[in-house]
Amino acid sequence: MKNFDVAIVGAGPAGLSFANSLSQSGLFIAVIESQVLESIQNPAPDGREIALTHLSLKILKQLSIWQKIPEENISFIKKADVFDGDSDYSLKFDTTKSDIQELGYMVANFSIRKACFDAIQEKSNITTLYGNKVESIIAGDKNSVVVLENGEKIRANLVVGADSRFSASRRMMGIAADMHDFGRSALVCRMSHELSHNDTASECFHYERTLAVLPLNNNISSIVITLKSPDAAHVLAMTDEEFNQDVAERFGHKLGKMKLLDKRHNYPLVATYANKFFAKRFALIGDAAVGMHPVTAHGFNLGLRSADSLSQLIINAHNNGEDIASEFLLRRYNRKHRNVSRPLYLGTNGIVGLFTNDKPLAKMVRKGLLRFGNRFPPIKNFITHQLTEENNSSLLKSFLP
Ligand SMILES: Cc1cc2nc3c(=O)[nH]c(=O)nc-3n(C[C@H](O)[C@H](O)[C@H](O)COP(=O)(O)OP(=O)(O)OC[C@H]3O[C@@H](n4cnc5c(N)ncnc54)[C@H](O)[C@@H]3O)c2cc1C
Repeated sequence: MKNFDVAIVGAGPAGLSFANSLSQSGLFIAVIESQVLESIQNPAPDGREIALTHLSLKILKQLSIWQKIPEENISFIKKADVFDGDSDYSLKFDTTKSDIQELGYMVANFSIRKACFDAIQEKSNITTLYGNKVESIIAGDKNSVVVLENGEKIRANLVVGADSRFSASRRMMGIAADMHDFGRSALVCRMSHELSHNDTASECFHYERTLAVLPLNNNISSIVITLKSPDAAHVLAMTDEEFNQDVAERFGHKLGKMKLLDKRHNYPLVATYANKFFAKRFALIGDAAVGMHPVTAHGFNLGLRSADSLSQLIINAHNNGEDIASEFLLRRYNRKHRNVSRPLYLGTNGIVGLFTNDKPLAKMVRKGLLRFGNRFPPIKNFITHQLTEENNSSLLKSFLP
């Protein structure tokens, strides 16, 4: 049986960032991934374009992951417009009128995954096992044993589940999770267009569906349409020409003619929140801890924060000669990440509820909120700091001049 200090289940962006962050400690780390090496080394485009906050940028730079992303794969969000219904009135965020340079950064998910993979190649204390599914986890008092599908066993002081929002390791450890199936889907793709987006992200809360248009380089945008799942089937069945026309029209022809550049990807929308983020010699990070609805673009940003927060606690314990999987440490991590993630999880689900509810009262509240937001700068400052995670500001701080 092979021995490690930490065994991570899942080589997604959260699992690999965590391995990378922990590697500075000199601890021996195993990453176990069910997919084969080739699909992690050269991940295929999956249509997801990830909006990253300033805090994520800082963490990714510290981990030397950011430096592995080709410059041409990074684009900037400088302004954002939020529209409600068919009205042209929008709640506006504009960095050109503030001391913040960008609201956020856009990078394709496959590009982040590739950079995370490349960054760990230089770490001799990380062992990766590809094409290996975790079958069971046996937690003991001194260490845990991870049993792989091929019968191989791995012993580790701590096991970390980073195996997606439908985490099998979470279930194996008996951790329950709240799941909210929205009955809706997100269709994502890239489209080119005649007119410039001016580095503006637009979120249109139309009736029955939402349309997000997120700026990429060279007059290209990432399109995210959320709609009821049966309607998604209709949109997927459209010809490319019909789809081009439909999106351009729904966006009020603000970008002129639009053209689909690749296939449309479909993601059923299910949000998950683990009832706790730890068990005996076990912790959850990334989507396995909190699987967000993508509308507020917090998923991977939160995943990075969970990886960063847990690795810091482990490195401190290791440096002080303490147990890296003590209940005390895991409880501290649990508390910390719940404080950060719970308000965002509930807030996001609340926004989805309000902006997909077409009852007259909900419509009135939405219109009121947008106008109030534009006229009351502290609210705007607060939302801007939530979007950028620029200085982890509190609500109170954002009300100060
Ligand atoms: C349409 C869409 C748009 C999004 N936009 C944004 C955005 O703008 N900003 C943002 O921050 N986030 C966004 N997200 C969320 C973001 O994509 C996720 O939060 C992130 O990819 C999750 O990473 P992860 O490593 O936790 O999980 P995953 O990427 O799901 O990786 C889990 C890994 O575990 C492996 N695995 C699973 N089971 C096992 C097992 N039993 N044994 C071994 N390995 C296993 C899988 O093969 C996989 O490699 C978006 C998501 C969607 C769907």
